[in-house]
Amino acid sequence: MKNAILVSADKHWRTVMEGTLLSRGWQVASVETLVEGERPDPVEVQALIIDAASVARGALSSWLAEGAPKLEIPVVIAPGLTEAERFADALEGQMRTVEKEASPVVVRFWGVRGSIPTPGPATSFYGGNTSCVEVEADGETIILDAGSGIRPLGLSLMARAAGKPLNLHLIISHTHWDHIQGLPFFIPAYIPTNHLRVVVYSEVRHDLAHVLEMQMDSAYFPVAMKDLPSHPEVEEAGDHFSCGPVEVEGFFSNHPGLCAGYKLLTSVGTVVYVSDNELNFKGQAIHLAAETADHMHERFIATLKGARVLIHDAQYTRAEYNSKLGWGHSAFEDTVELAGESGVEHLILFHHDPLRSDAQINQLVRDARAIVAEKGWSMRVDAAREGMEISLYPKGDAAPPL
Ligand SMILES: [Zn+2]
Ligand SMILES: [Zn+2]
Repeated sequence: MKNAILVSADKHWRTVMEGTLLSRGWQVASVETLVEGERPDPVEVQALIIDAASVARGALSSWLAEGAPKLEIPVVIAPGLTEAERFADALEGQMRTVEKEASPVVVRFWGVRGSIPTPGPATSFYGGNTSCVEVEADGETIILDAGSGIRPLGLSLMARAAGKPLNLHLIISHTHWDHIQGLPFFIPAYIPTNHLRVVVYSEVRHDLAHVLEMQMDSAYFPVAMKDLPSHPEVEEAGDHFSCGPVEVEGFFSNHPGLCAGYKLLTSVGTVVYVSDNELNFKGQAIHLAAETADHMHERFIATLKGARVLIHDAQYTRAEYNSKLGWGHSAFEDTVELAGESGVEHLILFHHDPLRSDAQINQLVRDARAIVAEKGWSMRVDAAREGMEISLYPKGDAAPPL
């Protein structure tokens, strides 16, 4: 694990730089100022990164010039936040020198928040849009949920299509607002030559078309669902359906009003999406009928076994969860344990609480990684962030440099 210490008096700078480095696998600690006589342990820390704007050059040189022990790790003067991503790449010596090979499966995050969109300065790093994940897999474009994140996804798809017709599969976990509210603003649905299939695991929603029509009723929105020029095809599917060559399995998660998780079987392994799921209500699946609730934990482990990527509800901490019993969401500690026990390769903490700030999500990532380290698992953990992209390559193939 690479460790860095960040120095800045600017809280926003620290949060963004921390998040940028955390997402590249660094372990990061932050301090506001350089403390006289204090030196990081070179065995523990590999870089000291200083905010050029908030730490005066004079203060830095006098700190560096202080007496023994001499500083033994590199001091890096970091640029402003607009350069944070490029800086983090350069720091790792991973500036792209070769073009990345096309990957058969790419997962992109467009909305990562639960419950309600939360724009604002405290959430600008991880993002405030509600649930929407794009999976480009084996030639198909699969969209998981239509929260407000589907609006920017629509713009991106239109730009990438450059006038060609789009063929899209939109899979809905359930119809709570944070999973459907972006659909009326999804521009590809307004283009007659596009094909939009909206699909749900029928056991969780028997009237999907009606619910989607209602949200576009004239009381709420000026365009009716039936007037969308692409004429979306709404489908209630069984627990197995396919999106081109990608087989999909739907299964119950534990959430009020019923909700589905989906397992996508791609050519390079499985990607599992469980946006809303309460893992640990005194060991009971309170939101499910008795026959489906039995052995929920064992069934989740079997479903998730060996997944390449698991995107899972991590709305609360265990401390918070005690006052949220029955609300249908998980404590991130339970999510990490389930994923670790299931041998998941890469866990993405998802459906961030509307109250969770960027700085708090950074802390969640640290705490989650500490659990993984303590258990001795090799699983990678990140927090979902708008704009984040995961490329999957066949197992055993070395991934090209980032
Ligand atoms: Zn939700
Ligand atoms: Zn919900």
